[in-house]
Amino acid sequence: MSNAHFPHLLAPLDLGFTQLRNRVMMGSMHTGLEDRFYNYGKLAAYFKERARGGVGLIVTGGISPNRRGWLLPFGGTMNSLFDIFNHRKVTRAVHEEGGKIVMQILHAGRYGYQPFIVSASAQQSPISKFKPKALTEAGIESTIRDYVRCAKLAQKSGYDGVEIMGSEGYLLNQFLCVRTNHRTDRWGGSIENRMRLPVEIVRRVRAAVGPNFIIMYRHSILDLVEGGNSWDEVIEVAQALEKAGVTLFNTGIGWHEARVPTIVTSVPRAAFASVSGRLKQAVSIPVIASNRINMPAQAEDILASGTADMVSMARPFLADPDFVNKAAQGRVDEINTCIACNQACLDHTFSNQRASCLVNPRAAHETELVYRKTSVAKRVAVVGAGPAGLSAATVAASCGHDVSLFDSSDSIGGQFKIAMQVPGKEEFKETLRYFAKRVEMTGVKLHLGKRVSREELIELGFDHIIVATGILPRTPRIDGVNHPKVMSYLDVLLHKKPVGKKVAIIGAGGIGFDVAEYLVHDTNIPLPMPLNTWLGEWGIDLQARQNGGLVKPEATHPAREIFLLQRKASKVGAGLGKTSGWVHRATLQRNQVKMMAGVEYQKIDDQGLHISVGGKQQILDVDHVILCAGQESLTELMPAQTSETGPRFHKIGGAALASELDAKRAIKEGAELAASL
Ligand code: FAD
Ligand code: NAP
Ligand code: SF4
Repeated sequence: MSNAHFPHLLAPLDLGFTQLRNRVMMGSMHTGLEDRFYNYGKLAAYFKERARGGVGLIVTGGISPNRRGWLLPFGGTMNSLFDIFNHRKVTRAVHEEGGKIVMQILHAGRYGYQPFIVSASAQQSPISKFKPKALTEAGIESTIRDYVRCAKLAQKSGYDGVEIMGSEGYLLNQFLCVRTNHRTDRWGGSIENRMRLPVEIVRRVRAAVGPNFIIMYRHSILDLVEGGNSWDEVIEVAQALEKAGVTLFNTGIGWHEARVPTIVTSVPRAAFASVSGRLKQAVSIPVIASNRINMPAQAEDILASGTADMVSMARPFLADPDFVNKAAQGRVDEINTCIACNQACLDHTFSNQRASCLVNPRAAHETELVYRKTSVAKRVAVVGAGPAGLSAATVAASCGHDVSLFDSSDSIGGQFKIAMQVPGKEEFKETLRYFAKRVEMTGVKLHLGKRVSREELIELGFDHIIVATGILPRTPRIDGVNHPKVMSYLDVLLHKKPVGKKVAIIGAGGIGFDVAEYLVHDTNIPLPMPLNTWLGEWGIDLQARQNGGLVKPEATHPAREIFLLQRKASKVGAGLGKTSGWVHRATLQRNQVKMMAGVEYQKIDDQGLHISVGGKQQILDVDHVILCAGQESLTELMPAQTSETGPRFHKIGGAALASELDAKRAIKEGAELAASL
């Protein structure tokens, strides 16, 4: 019977020899757990929760077919019978919940961050400090054999199939494109030669695993790099792969080295789905759409319009393992939505830490952060309904405590209400929608418009008082800081005070960058930005007529002239997120924002902001100076001394530590404290 809420998304997909229970795939994500055999119990618990949540097909993180294919030293590898025992924990856990799982075979090629890397040609990538060796013909043959052995071992481990990773600029992509393949033998030159390696791998894997095993191929349908493939080549490769034995196509957008964003929060939702639609018209096997799809309604639209046969979402399953069950039951307002921040997932992966999720700190920590029902319910006050307080209050209440949540403002959200005013951060409102629903469902008693005092809280007889009152913006000591030209970021983003055409921003941290993006934005362009405007700004041709889909970006028309300043001598924006900082820097550069490091602030007066850079005096004759100079903890509710009697006080989020604060730490601290009460 078809689902009343999302009939296309929840319809089964028949692959002939097997059936998927719905059209939702959890795409591959490297958590870090797959790299160590002793973490496979944790990995199994992580996948089990997602299978129980109803997802139709799961793809593991990348597993290398040999050591030269490692992304990082000692990465997850499947090349011996010994590996089967670990992987069986995973496949058993998923099958027990009625799910299906395929193992991704990923050879990193020149993206590997280790000294033994190989590629089509000996050409270093911009994202690894190691130079690859060009594979010899014999090396290519042995790589094909390694793929085949890896797939057979995956089959023995109980996987329902494999995904062969052919996109994002990894080894097979490196063979496919002239950007990285300069060979003159039968593995380079014409597209027939360049695609020989992936096609041979698929053909021989199919011969080895038989007909009743899924071979999914992740095909790069828009390379977004110079020297990437044209659309005609993309199709030619796809048709050859289908003939060689692929069961279904997953799609990949952009190489990791591409200078065009493909998944960060400012990318419009489902921006690239239409490209999957064009692939679907050219092949006869199912095609999966991917990239920035994070809510069931969009996924349903993609399927209902015939654009794809299945939808891949990866990060949304870190954010909410129950995504599919909630959608199926019409409980969409309960979904904890991925806000595409990358802060706890990709930023962790690329700095060699275990991945998790900003909005769900349990992700990949299922056996460690456990929300158990309490046997002794406590009376808990949480002061501050920002991310830290919301997390603490809702987790504590879900564990069975009696929780009252106070905020002096008339709505929940704290600084997230300010963050979501920034162009490209519109998704942040989803987190507040989710928490509002959790507050209602868990029975938290919400008191808004109430600035509570310590005495009041003590009088009310709570067992625990959690201070989550956040921060106050820092006012730097600069001569003339009270001049009428001076504004705080709150004046701009929250109070929407008018801002002149020429502006200096003091402080180039996360908020300084956000304020700059807000101020260059032309208010005539609606937010979120329409897809075509966004594509034009980044120079993307979805038709991929040439050059991997890159064209000349359209000129921007910034609404203001902006100076973004910091005292440190380091590169401006160096402290931003590893996988998203470059997008912010590129956006501001395109909008001609002047970023200045090593600045000494001298005074502010009617002439503007007086500064010195490298001993040279300058006056920035600006209309306004906007302070984004960091934050200081607001801790007025904390007692000066701890007492043996009375309630126990705790500090979390910005109230505990303002420097290096972000919502990832705030939400995690709230959840961990609440789970420990
Ligand atoms: P807050 O969010 O500051 O919440 C504190 C709450 O306490 C407020 O609601 C306040 O009204 C209430 N309160 C204070 N005193 C009292 C009292 N006495 N009684 C009752 N209520 C009280 N972080 C990221 O991780 N990623 C981002 O991309 C990001 N972008 C940002 C963009 C902007 C423009 C801003 C301003 C912040 C951004 N942040 C971002 C930072 C993030 O919002 C904060 O780290 C997070 O909100 C801190 O959470 P918190 O709960 O500790 O404090
Ligand atoms: P921040 O990142 O710590 O940046 C503060 C900026 O102010 C720095 O550029 C600092 O640089 C400058 N500064 C500090 N003290 C100063 C002083 N006394 N006088 C003049 N300048 C001073 O803090 P934030 O921008 O306020 O952001 C708050 C938190 O929100 C951050 O920790 C961040 O993680 C989070 N956030 C994250 C994002 C994101 O995209 N991930 C976006 C927004 C906010 P100098 O000392 O070199 O001058
Ligand atoms: Fe999504 Fe951010 Fe969580 Fe990553 S950390 S899954 S991008 S919400």
